[in-house]
Amino acid sequence: MTKFIFVTGGVVSSLGKGITTAAIAVLLEKRGLKVSIQKLDPYINVDPGTMSPFEHGEVYVTEDGAETDLDLGHYERFSNAAINKYSNATTGSVYSEVIRRERKGDYLGKTVQVIPHITDQIQRAIRQGAQRGIDVAIVEVGGTAGDIESLPFLEAIRQFGLKLGKGNVCYVHLTLLPYLSASGEMKTKPTQETVRKMREIGIQPDILVCRCERPMTEEMRQKIAMFCNVIGEDVIQEMDVPVTIYEVPLDLVREGMDASLVRCLQLQDTTRPDLSDWEDLRRRFAEPKGEIEIAVVGKYIELHDAYKSIYEALSHGGAYHEHKVRLRKIAAEDVHDQGATGLLHGCHGLLVPGGFGERGLEGKIKAIQWARENHVPFFGICFGMQAMVIEYARNVAGIPGAHTSEAQPNCSDPVIDLMREQEGVEEKGGTMRLGAYPCRVVDGTRCAEIYGRDMVLERHRHRWEFNNDYKRPLEVAGLTCSGIWEARGLVEVVELSDRPFYLGAQYHPEFKSKPLDPHPLFREFVGAALAFSRGEGEAGGEDEEEALDPSPAAASAAAGRTPGS
Ligand code: GLN
Repeated sequence: MTKFIFVTGGVVSSLGKGITTAAIAVLLEKRGLKVSIQKLDPYINVDPGTMSPFEHGEVYVTEDGAETDLDLGHYERFSNAAINKYSNATTGSVYSEVIRRERKGDYLGKTVQVIPHITDQIQRAIRQGAQRGIDVAIVEVGGTAGDIESLPFLEAIRQFGLKLGKGNVCYVHLTLLPYLSASGEMKTKPTQETVRKMREIGIQPDILVCRCERPMTEEMRQKIAMFCNVIGEDVIQEMDVPVTIYEVPLDLVREGMDASLVRCLQLQDTTRPDLSDWEDLRRRFAEPKGEIEIAVVGKYIELHDAYKSIYEALSHGGAYHEHKVRLRKIAAEDVHDQGATGLLHGCHGLLVPGGFGERGLEGKIKAIQWARENHVPFFGICFGMQAMVIEYARNVAGIPGAHTSEAQPNCSDPVIDLMREQEGVEEKGGTMRLGAYPCRVVDGTRCAEIYGRDMVLERHRHRWEFNNDYKRPLEVAGLTCSGIWEARGLVEVVELSDRPFYLGAQYHPEFKSKPLDPHPLFREFVGAALAFSRGEGEAGGEDEEEALDPSPAAASAAAGRTPGS
């Protein structure tokens, strides 16, 4: 029988519940258990697909094409849990299912109410999220205890736990121990208050995870235990991590979290989990041999969460090469207004991420031109790849009117154009080309060398595509189409094959990068930036005098370099 862990949060939002949830999954997997992870989100949107990245951070796309909360990205990066469209349910998705059933007549004769109909549907969603054959289903409840929106979810998990019975369910509650610098002490009162709130709702937390900036004293632990009705061992300190979020599983083991989970869920107490691979990862982050700087030119640059998976994937590449990746976040519009040189000078690589709409596009194109002309490693993702194609068409292939019809519907040369299937699509939610599609990697390209495979499965989220009418002229001008979705003959990857890394992907490789298994494209992009920082970037090309750090000797070595693993 599957056991359940419910992770809730109190006091304030942004306590890192998603990361804690993901870290719990690591601990259980290291004990040989199979887990699933699910996020319940109390907002009314059916999914976050239509929310602004400014509002909600990135939209994380699953293999099966669901647009989900970014916490699911943490789940996949940390664990091996299979994440799919059932892994994220919202108030919106729960209500739309209940309303669909009501219209069908499923509740004939009944008044449809929050309790029991909504709470029953939440429990159905929880059962759907817990995949067959797994030992422990971990369910994170978004929001903060006491929010109006999260009440039905808390009521549903209360009922769910009641049915499962003791030993089969564990309620983990995250709280904050604020530090008051004026009095120089940490406070337990907010924790007592949030646990009181949970108990009013009918849930007695089994394990309290206390987020804090400073160590919790034994006295505080005992005080929290006494006031919150748990044993001292189940009050777990989770301090801010100085170097990387990937330390959290190690910290939790050290604080006895896995012992508490074993006790609460009456799991077989196997040997202590071996986290040596995570130890090694921590070391790679904590003791880098050097630093490189990657410029990220995007539209939603002010909010770190807007490009969460990209930043994480870059850090994975950095850890692989044992180098810290410093980010230079640049607003695309600033490049447009101020020019590329001043803003980008000195960076060792340029990444242009995905995006939507016209704003910032010309700045991205300028930045890409700068990288091409200066032989700086460049990685374009989705809209970034589309901008790379436009730049190449305009400035190299002699197609000055090249554009995307997304920004200029009536442009003379839509080198990026709306997919046939998208014509006439009016609804915005869930209607893009979404999820994993197979891509054939073309032999003899950089892309093939990097992947070391001829077929890859990568995730998409876009409406526009490379326009094949321009394939020939772009290829003649030197651009190589190195990845193709064969079923439709669509170009998925473009590159300049004679460079260590100048590549654009229509898909989002960042969604499949893990700290212990960096995505090959990110691994090699960071590798190319590192080589560039050492003056090993290849020289030559049309702007030889302008190239930043050309070193012809190292260039041939770099060109012949094989992928790092
Ligand atoms: N706006 C572009 C499109 O829809 C790119 C989308 C993206 O970058 N995710 O095709």
